[in-house]
Amino acid sequence: MIGYERQRKGEEMEKQYAQVIIDISHEKVDRPFCYKIPQHLKEKVEIGSSVILPFGKGNTLRKGYVIQFPEKPDFAEEKIKEIAEVREGIQVENKMIQLAAWMKEEYGCTMIQALQTVLPIKAKVKPKERKVLVSLAEGKELQDALELAEKKKQHAKARVLKQLQYHKELPYSLVMQKLHLSAATIQSLQKSGLVQIISDITYRNPLKEVEIKQQEKEPQLSKKQQEIVDKITEERKVNPTGKYLIHGITGSGKTRVYLELIEKVIAENKSVIMLIPEISLTFQTVMRFQKRFGNRVSVLNSSLSAGEKFDQCQRARKGEIDIIIGPRSALFTPFENIGMILIDEEHESSYKSEAMPKYHAREVAEKIALLHGASLVLGSATPSLESYYKAKEGEYRLFQLNHRLTGGQLPHVYIEDLREELKKGNRSIFSERLQELIRDRLEKKEQIILFLNRRGYTGFLSCRSCGEVVKCPHCDVSLTLHNNGKMVCHYCGYEREKVKVCPKCSSKYISGFKAGTQKIEEEFIKTFGETKILRMDKDTTTKKDSYDQILSQFMEEQAQVLIGTQMIVKGHDFPKVTLVGILAADISLGVNDFRAAERTFQLLTQAAGRAGRGNLPGEVVIQSYQPDHYSIGHAARQEYESFFEEEILYRKLGSYPPVYHMLVVQLFGARKERVQQLAQSLAVVEKRRNEEGLTVIGPTEAAIGKINNIYRMRLILKHKTKEQLIKEKNRMEEIIRDCEKKEIIVQFDFNPMSSF
Ligand code: ADP
Ligand code: ZN
Ligand code: ZN
Repeated sequence: MIGYERQRKGEEMEKQYAQVIIDISHEKVDRPFCYKIPQHLKEKVEIGSSVILPFGKGNTLRKGYVIQFPEKPDFAEEKIKEIAEVREGIQVENKMIQLAAWMKEEYGCTMIQALQTVLPIKAKVKPKERKVLVSLAEGKELQDALELAEKKKQHAKARVLKQLQYHKELPYSLVMQKLHLSAATIQSLQKSGLVQIISDITYRNPLKEVEIKQQEKEPQLSKKQQEIVDKITEERKVNPTGKYLIHGITGSGKTRVYLELIEKVIAENKSVIMLIPEISLTFQTVMRFQKRFGNRVSVLNSSLSAGEKFDQCQRARKGEIDIIIGPRSALFTPFENIGMILIDEEHESSYKSEAMPKYHAREVAEKIALLHGASLVLGSATPSLESYYKAKEGEYRLFQLNHRLTGGQLPHVYIEDLREELKKGNRSIFSERLQELIRDRLEKKEQIILFLNRRGYTGFLSCRSCGEVVKCPHCDVSLTLHNNGKMVCHYCGYEREKVKVCPKCSSKYISGFKAGTQKIEEEFIKTFGETKILRMDKDTTTKKDSYDQILSQFMEEQAQVLIGTQMIVKGHDFPKVTLVGILAADISLGVNDFRAAERTFQLLTQAAGRAGRGNLPGEVVIQSYQPDHYSIGHAARQEYESFFEEEILYRKLGSYPPVYHMLVVQLFGARKERVQQLAQSLAVVEKRRNEEGLTVIGPTEAAIGKINNIYRMRLILKHKTKEQLIKEKNRMEEIIRDCEKKEIIVQFDFNPMSSF
């Protein structure tokens, strides 16, 4: 009998022993201890049960949590102590441990890894005092101060005064982080009597009153918004664990729908988890939630220290807050009774963890919702293929919001063929059309965003004359150039020498596309003359707040041009932007990745949506070597549905997610032969099984075969159902366990997000 089935059986029938952890909120989760389960408790004890047990030499009674039922004890039978008592009632911890047990099984990590992911880690840090900035000036006085600051070019001061016009009080930390004011600026504001800083103790009660009074009336819900709110609310009464997908372009009113739904859920005395990708957690978004829910909402983000994060968990546990907003880790906030989990921009790849356990927030949210009897609401302008597929299959209920509520027309989109430009003798990175429009905007003093899609720029080769991307003859994915000069298919292992001329048109202009934002800035100045340009990419945003800083500088029109990578396309409104240029739309198509077209479609749709958000109409230029590619055409016309239909067909044909499930087994080790051997033996075992419908590919070398002298290999399994792949994973875990001594790390990645 294999281990998995054995374990299953153990759980269901004879629970003899229990692995128990004693202290779960420690910096490092303790190692588990083995206890015997007395006969009379066997019925009562479950994974996650809170138990009382004799511990240590003096057998003092302590509290612990059951995490596993091993078949055999891990030390001498006669020394094993017995569990004294099973505590009644379900605590938050039970659910957390059940969740961890599920994650261990679902993602193939260790129980300790799973526990460390789901349990809040207590770190010894002094909690920060919570402060708010309160405006003492109002109306004309505030307006005058703002105008003065603007005249004196005191941008930081102006930023905060502008916000104080809309919000009488602002959280101090938010002002520091998102409006990046220095302490000196705030002091000077305080001195001039414009603001006052109030700290925690004085804060909580008195100001809540002010807040509520000040809450301005929001406009009435549109008919469509009301319909969504009503239908979900109605359905929740009969089926609290419903799952919903709201497909709506940016600005169509999704966030407003979230706010209404959340209000209804907390009125039922239940808590809410609201996931928003870190990069979209802007000042405006956070304020919208805080204004509506005041002290009952808390925000998690990466600039909080471990101690502060832990404090938020404590507040949730004590019932001091009802709503948590944050990136994927906010899922593990220890609320007693969750009523709804919402995931905004659910297509974002940051919802998938890249470390073990490699979980997807959407899947974990579904599980948590099930444990708590909560509903799940997903929202996106460009839903992931996964979610839209589920909506089509009837698993999610689909709602559409098709109109922008803030006015502004959809921009006009031009697609420019870069192959034609080359034929015309234009070697510049700007097509003729884009050059013409840039000149026009520079003259009119309107703003321009130039977008460089760089995600996939490593490795693949494309022809600058005909657009050909060198692909695997068997797999319809591009080959990746390895350091040794060979081109390799990461799906089937096919290999060939690097090409020198284009296999299609024999042009020698075949190369990897390499142009960073800096290069583009240089080109821009060479072509259009000196002007202030803001750049945003990984290199210019290494400092914590530089991202927000660049965005506000652009917002304040300190520069007319912003050049950046995909970071700039996320949910920001720049009313003065009337031109968006997408310099090479196909770069992400060349990536050896079945998600390449989806990613391109999402990026282009979002980038195009940046233009014409204000009163001025916008134009978008998409430059491409493959202008006929369906992802480009559908994005230009903002046709999600037709893109989906075409893309899902391709996923079906290639047996890719979401139609099939995929498990990537990654092996890492210092000794090449050992890594190869283990990879090989896993492949042999899996292939020999001849399991119906199971495809086994590889083993092959990883995209980068060696990093820091650690060799990397991988094996890919595909099947119609995830359950089958989980079974295969468990089978492989057995083999891996037996050769743990070989110093090889094995990781499992289900339905991976990135090219690998
Ligand atoms: P999304 O989350 O889809 O981008 P939001 O909820 O943020 O959309 O709404 C976009 C803009 O439209 C916001 O400025 C919001 O205040 C406004 N808005 C939302 N709902 C309405 C409504 N019913 N009537 C008028 N304006 C609205
Ligand atoms: Zn060619
Ligand atoms: Zn191949």
